[in-house]
Amino acid sequence: MRLLGVDFLDISDQFSEDELMVQKTTREFVDNEIMPDIDLYFHDGTFPKHLVKQFGELGLLGLNLPEKYGCAGMSHIAYGLTCQELERCDSGIRSFVSVQGSLVMYPIYAYGSEEQRMKYLTKLASGEFIGCFGLTEPDHGSNPGGMVTRAKKTDGGYILNGAKMWITNGSVADVAVVWAKTDDDIVRGFIVDTDSEGFSAPLMKNKWSLRASITSELIFEDVFVPDENLLPNVKGLKGPLGCLTQARYGIGWGTLGSAIAVYDASVKYTAERIQFDKPIASFQLIQEKLAWMLSEITKGQLLALHVGKNKDNGTLRHQQVSMLKKNNCWVARECAKLAREMHGANGISGEYPIMRHLMNIESVYTYEGTNEMHTLVLGHDITGIPAYK
Ligand SMILES: Cc1cc2nc3c(=O)[nH]c(=O)nc-3n(C[C@H](O)[C@H](O)[C@H](O)COP(=O)(O)OP(=O)(O)OC[C@H]3O[C@@H](n4cnc5c(N)ncnc54)[C@H](O)[C@@H]3O)c2cc1C
Repeated sequence: MRLLGVDFLDISDQFSEDELMVQKTTREFVDNEIMPDIDLYFHDGTFPKHLVKQFGELGLLGLNLPEKYGCAGMSHIAYGLTCQELERCDSGIRSFVSVQGSLVMYPIYAYGSEEQRMKYLTKLASGEFIGCFGLTEPDHGSNPGGMVTRAKKTDGGYILNGAKMWITNGSVADVAVVWAKTDDDIVRGFIVDTDSEGFSAPLMKNKWSLRASITSELIFEDVFVPDENLLPNVKGLKGPLGCLTQARYGIGWGTLGSAIAVYDASVKYTAERIQFDKPIASFQLIQEKLAWMLSEITKGQLLALHVGKNKDNGTLRHQQVSMLKKNNCWVARECAKLAREMHGANGISGEYPIMRHLMNIESVYTYEGTNEMHTLVLGHDITGIPAYK
């Protein structure tokens, strides 16, 4: 069994049988159940919600969380490989799984009470419940610490007021993990049942990217959240940032899937497309592009593998995840642009997957910390000087 995808350095030798088996199962599921219709979902701007229970059955939701809560209990490397396979199909599909596992299940697992874990995790793992993560606000994206959503203490709970924006899964979610400031001005996390009075999640329309993913506003108008839905074990911005480290790790692997998809398509297309009586793959300028893509994908894989090993052995630093997210999003974005060029006019056609990946990667490049914010994280790590403002 030799999987990984593009594997110039035989990196797949590094994975266990279990990890490769998870990758194989995910790949087969993606190829059989999602790939045939992905252009349709993207074109129509719909998320294939009927797949969610199947994600659950395959163990893809919270794959790297403990079995005790209905999850697969697999390694972080295995989780990375599933993200790669999902994003080889579409970034929107991988986004669903990232949000559910890393941004909703992870905070309930890491910061929640045992009662909260028991109440929510099994249902989120099976796909019975869908979750969303509300951090970004209309006026606070890269600077979430400036958030103005408020949770005011009242008898038996909190009253939430405010709005979140650009929230993946928002309109289809059963539960929302929401970050808001309490009376002492400290950011706290809340599990909000989306059928609470005063909660609404209007769909954000007119997206030209991540069209096979649901994106919504979250609006809170005097929403009552009971005390038992406050995440008790974290205070401050380190709560949401800890979740983002989990999701960014998966994105670092996932974007390699997008890069592999456009690389594979380019190798095939350039071998078949004849100009000047020869396959365009025979031209040096085309080969230079393919060699660049292969080299950068391979370097991105080494980065993902090593960061994954650090995560599995408990030595990971969040700055390493920043480098992974920043680098591999950039690689995928550049690969999509080169693939677009090599496909000529066909590069803009829906007959090929290139433009879809190119449009998707623009969202992935920006969400979960823009390229600039991760650059600043690395600059801070190198110099010890924060330069965020
Ligand atoms: C499709 C999609 C899905 C999303 N899903 C979610 C979700 O589920 N939950 C959620 O909470 N959020 C989500 N987001 C929001 C996302 O995380 C934010 O868009 C992102 O954090 C950037 O914030 P912003 O768009 O407000 O950009 P801004 O923060 O306004 O940034 C605009 C530009 O200014 C730059 N900039 C900002 N500050 C600095 C600085 N100090 N130095 C240098 N440059 C700077 C940025 O890098 C960027 O280039 C999603 C976004 C998209 C597009």
